[in-house]
Amino acid sequence: MGIMRLSSTSTSWPWGWLKFNPIFNPKFRAPGRNRIFPTIHNHTTISPKSHLPHHSFPMPISSSPISAPRRRLRGVVFDMDGTLTVPVIDFAAMYRSVLGDEEYARIKALNPSGIDILHIIQSWAPEKQRRAYEVIADFERQGMDRLQIMPGAAELCTFLDSKNIRRGLITRNIKEAVDIFHERFGWTFHPALSREFGSYKPNPAPLLHICSSWDVLPNEVIMIGDSLRDDIGCGKGAGAFTCLLDETGRYNSEHFVNLDLEPDFKVSTLGEVLHLLDANFDLTP
Ligand SMILES: [Mg+2]
Repeated sequence: MGIMRLSSTSTSWPWGWLKFNPIFNPKFRAPGRNRIFPTIHNHTTISPKSHLPHHSFPMPISSSPISAPRRRLRGVVFDMDGTLTVPVIDFAAMYRSVLGDEEYARIKALNPSGIDILHIIQSWAPEKQRRAYEVIADFERQGMDRLQIMPGAAELCTFLDSKNIRRGLITRNIKEAVDIFHERFGWTFHPALSREFGSYKPNPAPLLHICSSWDVLPNEVIMIGDSLRDDIGCGKGAGAFTCLLDETGRYNSEHFVNLDLEPDFKVSTLGEVLHLLDANFDLTP
């Protein structure tokens, strides 16, 4: 069944997506997905809590792990920086440079799950905004110079290809960075939506756009990323499955305990994703 195609030039929140969003339209909800940020009860995970001692994050609760039907998976959408590539951009330093120490501390205290710098600078005066974009671009350029592909990424692509599962990419970074990533990695992601798309994570618009271009429903897709606010927020907002990559256990911090955002799965390496998909989804091509 086709779903709405969003304009690639959209610059504002696409209200039309509400009609197609599982959160607001029960027709598209996966079983058990009746709350805005649902707790998944019928998924198992390949990483039992005991194997991940650093993770205090609630893992999926399995009330009937064996008998629950597996959801069909038809696409995987990845974040780029820190997920498909080794994290090299010092985001805290970037935010401090853009906002100044004092403002950074104030905004950080108000936004424990992360700072949306692109959103913040949108309301600034043109000249101040231009300078901010320059600082951000500078950090991103340094990141490109040091770009490294995340271990496990190539194996995961090979696996997805073997199952005929599509792979897409959404980043808040610029298209030039995506082009360099594609060139160095050798594997391509399509669609690969960058900042130029106009709506960026955690807005679900880019993910819904990808689902639309693939002609699949959001609940047949999993969004994988290392940012709870951006990647998991985007995935949840679209009604997709979500997987948080938390290599260092940073989301075990008390700052994240009371947040409503809870991923369906959590892994500490990208390599675990392959097994997670195999164990939890119907991957029949
Ligand atoms: Mg990231």
